[in-house]
Amino acid sequence: MVIEKSINRQKFLAEKFRTFYVSKFKKECNLSDIEYREFGFFYWEPSKFVRHLRFINIENLAKHIISKVPKHIYSSAARYEVPNAPNMKLKSLIDCELIFDLDVDHIPTPCKKDHDKWVCKQCGTTGTGMAPKTCPAKKCESHSFEEMSWECEKCMEIAKSEIFSIIEEFLSNDFGLNPKTDLFIVFSGRRGYHIHIENEIYRKLDSNARREIVDYIMGKGLVPSYHGFSLKSGNKPNKFETGWRGRMTRFVIKFLKESSPNELLKILTRRVNIINVKKDLVAQLNSRNPSWSYPNIGEQTWVNLINAAIEKYGAKVDQPVTIDLHRLIRLPGSLHGKTGFLVKKMSYNELEKFDPFSHAQVFEGSIRIHVHTAPQFRIGNENFGPFKDQKIELPMSAAIYLLCKGVANLL
Ligand SMILES: [Zn+2]
Ligand SMILES: [Zn+2]
Repeated sequence: MVIEKSINRQKFLAEKFRTFYVSKFKKECNLSDIEYREFGFFYWEPSKFVRHLRFINIENLAKHIISKVPKHIYSSAARYEVPNAPNMKLKSLIDCELIFDLDVDHIPTPCKKDHDKWVCKQCGTTGTGMAPKTCPAKKCESHSFEEMSWECEKCMEIAKSEIFSIIEEFLSNDFGLNPKTDLFIVFSGRRGYHIHIENEIYRKLDSNARREIVDYIMGKGLVPSYHGFSLKSGNKPNKFETGWRGRMTRFVIKFLKESSPNELLKILTRRVNIINVKKDLVAQLNSRNPSWSYPNIGEQTWVNLINAAIEKYGAKVDQPVTIDLHRLIRLPGSLHGKTGFLVKKMSYNELEKFDPFSHAQVFEGSIRIHVHTAPQFRIGNENFGPFKDQKIELPMSAAIYLLCKGVANLL
């Protein structure tokens, strides 16, 4: 009975996805150089992943998608001479878009404890929020968890502001890219965004160069003294400067303002009065010429403070996506099989107003379904739920979302 229900659900979703692909795929896809890209598909039934496929144009690609209706669709950021060759060497790389992948899955947002859950696959221990690295149960030590996450408005806002900060702080200010002409953004269809840089110079970069760039924007391995920070220096960083000198000063100010006394005590020790130090240092670092000097705070403590601030506020991108030239990434114009949301390509100008709960919704009509459990969520201008074991008529996009998430069944 359970299996039958799940097959019915899959068939229904595939049929709805097909209707979308027939009418809107070609308009939404907008992928350049199709004939030079590798494609990969995750099919519903039988459930399997197939890659190393090539299509000569959008018509052929659309035809395949409409006939097979995959659950997830990916294409390469790279362009190859022979995209369908079975291994990377034979594919013969031409070049590759530079990509930054930012996903809420990797950001410890405060609301996750309200909407995300995890279960240890080994011992069954459960918890809320992000899964720990190691299971906290005695003698378990498992690193493998089943995670149940939810697309939440606050999380999506945090993801968007992170994307803005990467584009404005780093790509525009530090690298001199023009956000309006050198890049575009793709909503991943779930909890993240990708930034694609198509600019010719960046496409030619090898993996090592990409690692340098991603380390730079994350502040990974940053040594403050290489940026002129030392207590003896006559030219100490101030917050008005460009690059990491100004940024590390601003991060420290933010860290002092936003951290709890306990967090600060871990770095500043008990020799200073945390409340006073917070106020005094923020005032000092806000000035044009801060001395970076304070009783009982030595150079190493400053370095620890800078590092903690970078750890907290540095960009939280998924590094391997940027570094790996052969990575497949979600195809714009496809639907995400775990939400039914559109993987939506947009320009920098469109990002500000983009609302995934409205602009990535593609289904029309309504249907009555059985919802097992769901927290409150919004689709378009309407709020739904929370639901607990309930039969209810919902707009099609809301119903498909719950069916894709596996928390509802057809009647
Ligand atoms: Zn465990
Ligand atoms: Zn959230």
